[in-house]
Amino acid sequence: MPKTPDEEHWTDHAICRGADPDLFFPIGYTAEVLQEQQRAAKAICANCPVTADCLSWALRVGEPDGIWGGTTPEERRYLRRSTEAPARRRLPVITVRGDVPEADQAASAA
Ligand code: SF4
Repeated sequence: MPKTPDEEHWTDHAICRGADPDLFFPIGYTAEVLQEQQRAAKAICANCPVTADCLSWALRVGEPDGIWGGTTPEERRYLRRSTEAPARRRLPVITVRGDVPEADQAASAA
């Protein structure tokens, strides 16, 4: 029986379903072999209709291994750091005496 749109999950549309899992969890014995395995998995992700959902999920759960949404673990760490950094920069600057500069007070009130 076919699923209704409400019952579907993004993984239902993943084109890697049924693919060799080793392809998406490459273990290269040299950097060149690892990069070639990663390129092969990424080539599949490039044609997948749920790449954004897959990447979003991997970032949300902090998936530490494998190729997800066309990214390597290192690329996801970079993405997490670069998306978290602006939030850290928005924190008000507190001076040693505890004063909050006017510009930061306005930013905190917004
Ligand atoms: S983006 Fe890649 S890893 Fe994610 S579901 Fe699609 S093919 Fe699989």
